[in-house]
Amino acid sequence: MVDLTLHDPCQILLSRILRWLWFMVILSRDHKDHFMRRILLAGNWKMHGSPEMVASLLNGLLVASQQECAVDMVVFPPFPYLAQVQALLKDSDISWGAQNLNPAAQGAFTGEVSAAMLLDFACRYVLVGHSERRALFGESDQDVALRFEAAHQAGLIPVLCVGETLAERENGATETVVERQLDAVLQGSGIGAFGRAVIAYEPVWAIGTGKTATPEQAQEVHAFIRNKISSQDGTIGDHIHILYGGSVNGSNAADLFAREDIDGGLVGGASLKAEDFLAIRDAAA
Ligand code: PEP
Repeated sequence: MVDLTLHDPCQILLSRILRWLWFMVILSRDHKDHFMRRILLAGNWKMHGSPEMVASLLNGLLVASQQECAVDMVVFPPFPYLAQVQALLKDSDISWGAQNLNPAAQGAFTGEVSAAMLLDFACRYVLVGHSERRALFGESDQDVALRFEAAHQAGLIPVLCVGETLAERENGATETVVERQLDAVLQGSGIGAFGRAVIAYEPVWAIGTGKTATPEQAQEVHAFIRNKISSQDGTIGDHIHILYGGSVNGSNAADLFAREDIDGGLVGGASLKAEDFLAIRDAAA
C-alpha cells in the first residue's frame, strides 16, 4: 500500500498553496461571470424603412461587423423587410428580430403576425411591450405577458420593455410601475422564462425626446430590476441582459453602458443610420 499522507512540511505547505490558488481561480471565474455580460446593442427601426434604406444601413453595419468587437448587435426592422434583412445578415454576426407578435398561433386576427411566422424569417428576438405598443395600441400588462409567453414558447428571445411615464416618475411611482410590468410577465411565464429573455428599461419620457435618463437614474432602476429577478433566481439575475433605452446616442452611450447593471441599449432614432449606430457601438466597445 502506498502511503498518500503528506508528512514533509514543505509538501504540506505546497499542497495548501495549490488548494488556495485553485479556490481563487474558481472564485475569480464566478466573479467574471457575474460582470462579464457582453454589451448588446439593439436597433428598433420602428415604422421606418425602404428597400434602399435597409440595404444601405445593413451594408454599413456589415462592413463594421467584420472588425473584432465586444458588442453584439441586433436590428428590429418592420415586418415587410424581414426577408431582406434575413438575406443580408444570414452569414453575419448581426442578429435580427421583430417589433411585436400576436400570442395566437393563427386565425382571424387581421394585421397581426404570429411567432411561427417570425421564425419563418429566422428571427431570434422579438420586442414585447414597447411603450408605443402600450400607449398607442392599448396593450395592457396582461397582453404583454401573453406575447412574452408566446415568444418564449416558440423559442424566440423576448425583449421585454418596461418603463414609467414622466408623471409616474414625478409621483415617485417608477419602481411600482416597473415592478407591476415585470410581475405580470413573471406570473404568466415564471422566472425560468427569463433565463432566455432580455429586459429593456425605457423611461417613456426619454423615448424619442432627446432627454436621456442620467447614468445614475438609469442604474438605479436597472439595479432594482436585477434585484427583483435575482430575488427569484440568483443565476438568472446575474446573467440576464438589462438594456437601457431612451435617446441613446454616440455621446451618452459610454457613460450609460459603463454602469454595473446596464448591459447595452435599445436604440430608436440613432439606429436608422449606420454611422450613428456604429458611433454607439464604438463608444460601448
Ligand atoms: C425606442 O424606440 O425604444 C427608443 C429608445 O427610441 P429613441 O432611441 O429614439 O429614444
